[in-house]
Amino acid sequence: MRFLPVFLDLKAGPVVLIGAGELLRAKLRVLAAAGARIRVHAIDGDHDLGGLTPDDAARIEFAAGDPLTADLAGVIAIVCAGAGDVGVAMSVRAKALGLPVNVMDDLEHSSFIFPAIVDRGDVVVAVGTGGTSPVVARRVREKIEALLPARIGELAEFIGGFRKSINERIAEFPLRRRFWERVIDGPIGASVLAGRKSEAEAALEQISDPSAFARADKPEGSVALVGAGPGDPDLLTIKALRALQDADIVFHDELVSAEILDRIRRDTTRVAVGRRVGKPGIGQDAINRRMIEAAQAGQRVVRLKGGDPFVFGRGGEEVEALRAAGVPYSIIPGITAGIGGAADFEVPLTYRHEATRITFLTAHKARDAETVDWSTLTDTRMTVVVYMGMTAAPAVRAGLLAAGRSPETPVGVFARVTQPDAQAAIGTLRDLPELVRRTDGGPAILIIGEVVRHAGSLRRQTPKHIISDLLDAAE
Ligand code: SAH
Repeated sequence: MRFLPVFLDLKAGPVVLIGAGELLRAKLRVLAAAGARIRVHAIDGDHDLGGLTPDDAARIEFAAGDPLTADLAGVIAIVCAGAGDVGVAMSVRAKALGLPVNVMDDLEHSSFIFPAIVDRGDVVVAVGTGGTSPVVARRVREKIEALLPARIGELAEFIGGFRKSINERIAEFPLRRRFWERVIDGPIGASVLAGRKSEAEAALEQISDPSAFARADKPEGSVALVGAGPGDPDLLTIKALRALQDADIVFHDELVSAEILDRIRRDTTRVAVGRRVGKPGIGQDAINRRMIEAAQAGQRVVRLKGGDPFVFGRGGEEVEALRAAGVPYSIIPGITAGIGGAADFEVPLTYRHEATRITFLTAHKARDAETVDWSTLTDTRMTVVVYMGMTAAPAVRAGLLAAGRSPETPVGVFARVTQPDAQAAIGTLRDLPELVRRTDGGPAILIIGEVVRHAGSLRRQTPKHIISDLLDAAE
């Protein structure tokens, strides 16, 4: 390691920044964002601050004279960016004075370098490559950005606020560390990360015996209801991915794709609980019971559902059961099949003037379809997205036609959306049962409305394709 990462106290004194042009302004932004006081020698005489906030600008002063002879008393570091030969000369001077100096893109004349920074309040990550490749450092930073919860800084701040009182109540250091580990890994930490700080504060204050809490060998369990999206693992949210990586046990629907199950940590227990068409699953009550038991045994439970947990996913019932059992839980939304299908096949669900509202509907069986009040769906500017509508397709058609929707209304059947073998069949309401026959099974949604005319991706000959387009044929 040639450069040791350390954190510089910016309150100790001003940073002297020397240089010109955009390079100077870029460094000015970095230093200003960090809260530094900055004394600037703009060797091109340009005093433009490049759109800094008044707050930041207040900490910046422009120095007149020659930086090579200027008074450096109290200065904590010297930074040169776009300073040319002045930078090199300044480096010699700084080194003679024992002041840290950075000359941009010049390792030889730098005694410190700037890392790529992930800034989350009290949590700051510095990434260095020893000056070899700032671009690699930035790529690493991007990966860390994606990994770190957005509120990790708030978690650090939260703990900082309680540290003194816990220090007083737990004397032994290892036990104190166990205490904070349990807080961070348990529901209190989860509450802070979810933005529910007052809830977390109340829970922490309720711990009457911190030492006993730290000693308890049973961790506190919780359940996350996680939306897995319609199949493409890259459509998992960052939060969902994190939950899958943290889980001790995952109860997943049969519909969840193998690629998504692949993202679960290797040593996590997986239990398939969903029903498949025609095959009974373990039943909702049994699912609820098993989730609650696992959480009460101290496990971090994920209930992984296709699409979004709150869209025809029985997430509501599960939340009620968790609330009744007093088990801590969280809900992580996912991309629902209708939204995934629309993006996959380029069907805009709303369109200026043409489609101004959307209805998500389930028509599980023809019997269910008969209970739908189709007369509420006759507005020609309404896009109707039907879930579980394949076997009920004839009933959907009959209902809409009887209510007065035109048989020429465009419809599409979109199967296995966002998956590699996704396919669509497009036509009119009149053709609906035929379109269903033409698709090769798997889960599918129906989209009904004028916007289906915009469906694309056939012409681009991607593997995902529109297997038949009766609308096109008719034109
Ligand atoms: N919670 C899920 C819906 C579950 S109901 C969500 O938000 O997407 C199951 C129905 O969802 C299926 O009958 C089908 O209509 C639809 N569906 C789920 N995954 C799908 C996919 N990959 N492609 C098309 N439709 C899908």
